[in-house]
Amino acid sequence: MQPNSHLNSALALLGATAIFLIDTFTPLDIAVAVLYVAVIMLSATFLSRTGLLAIAATCVFLTISSFIITHWSDLETSALIRCLVSLSAIIVTTLLALKNNQATHDLRDQAALLDLTHDAIYVRDNHDVITYWNAGAEQLYGWPREDAIGKVAIDLLKSKFPKPLAEITRDLAAEGRWQGEITHAKRDGSSVVVASRWSQQRDDKGRPVATMVTNNDITDQQLAETALHKAESELAHVTRLTTLGELMASIAHEVNQPLAAVVTNGEAALRWLKRDVPDLTEVNNSLERMISNGRRASDVIARLRALTRKTDLIRAPLDANELLEDVLLLVERELIARDVALRLDLAATPLPLLGDRVQLQQAVINLALNAVQAMSSVTDRPRTLRISTRLEQDDKAEPPQKNAIIEIADNGPGIDPAVISKLFTAFYTTKSEGMGMGLSICRSIIESHGGTIVATSELGHGATFTIHLPVREDAA
Ligand code: ADP
Repeated sequence: MQPNSHLNSALALLGATAIFLIDTFTPLDIAVAVLYVAVIMLSATFLSRTGLLAIAATCVFLTISSFIITHWSDLETSALIRCLVSLSAIIVTTLLALKNNQATHDLRDQAALLDLTHDAIYVRDNHDVITYWNAGAEQLYGWPREDAIGKVAIDLLKSKFPKPLAEITRDLAAEGRWQGEITHAKRDGSSVVVASRWSQQRDDKGRPVATMVTNNDITDQQLAETALHKAESELAHVTRLTTLGELMASIAHEVNQPLAAVVTNGEAALRWLKRDVPDLTEVNNSLERMISNGRRASDVIARLRALTRKTDLIRAPLDANELLEDVLLLVERELIARDVALRLDLAATPLPLLGDRVQLQQAVINLALNAVQAMSSVTDRPRTLRISTRLEQDDKAEPPQKNAIIEIADNGPGIDPAVISKLFTAFYTTKSEGMGMGLSICRSIIESHGGTIVATSELGHGATFTIHLPVREDAA
């Protein structure tokens, strides 16, 4: 028995004694013994089934004793009825209390089941006050049940939500449930990231009364994911440098040519100036050509620098058409050198995306270079690289969405249908110096942008790589 139970038992006995004394020794003509009901109700809150039966038996004994002491010599019908009313009240109350205790007991047993799970489960009322806290929650957060219950959850756990709480509350009210990742503080001050699932409990009229929260610790999983992303981005960086290495000769030419033009135009300008009558119109023309060539060289270098820089993933609004134009600036020379004609077919309207410019450029450069390399064996027809973009409505997606489609098609030897499924796996290559990482990285780049990439081919007639990327939500 707990110290509190001792006190309560003493109080119950004191109450029963007081009622017995009033019932027996005061001349009140009322059913004082009915007050034993209060003793039984009090006892029901802390006594076991046997204890409660013992108290009830004591109350019955005291009621009958009091009746015998006071009324035996002069038996009155009204006194007998009062005694019987009191006895029935005691018996009915005892039965109800026993039933209630059994129901509470069953509920407690069911709630104890929640302590078997490793998930941290707690319930909070409409004011965010914690009303239930299971063993998993004690273990995860370090707060014992007694300390957590009654506290405001958001204050106790210093919750950091993935979006404004008002939005989450709105979703919860509309759907009756919500799930997402939340960062909490433990009792020792350290943070824990949890996958949290909320379910709203409603009353008969559908009004929310409480929310049950089930949390799983995913801190380690998140750390592993971060490490994996880092490794992926380093690998992407290395392959980007390798791909650019393949383009280096063309890019050097792409920069050299405008620089040579700057020099030629500079010399021409000087000649026009040195004439007896300087021809300022020609000087002006030469200077303008110098500026535009200088700009072109610096543009190529700027794009190259962006591609070689090792940066973390940056998601920013961009236009797929602009992205392709930037890529073409770097690969154009390679196309000329390899005798490949470019057929550009870009959508007339912008294709707004949200993504990492460098990574998406890397994916497109890789596809274009693969196409150019595949076409090197073609000698019986003009080599053609077709790059096209368009907007497509996908009604099968849930919810329906608009996609930007980027298609890179060549008329090279194509791909054997038997190997098409292997193309995107790491280390698959048919080139003697190939790494086989390009397409696998392409796919992870596109998928990390919520898109897909597929290859189709008619053997002997070329290959087409089609990228679907979801159009930016605010522009869809
Ligand atoms: P790598 O270029 O190092 O071989 P990739 O992953 O970029 O690695 O390409 C894998 C393989 O896919 C290539 O070796 C080639 O066999 C095939 N491939 C890719 N693009 C084409 C294409 N346009 N036409 C024919 N085969 C292709």
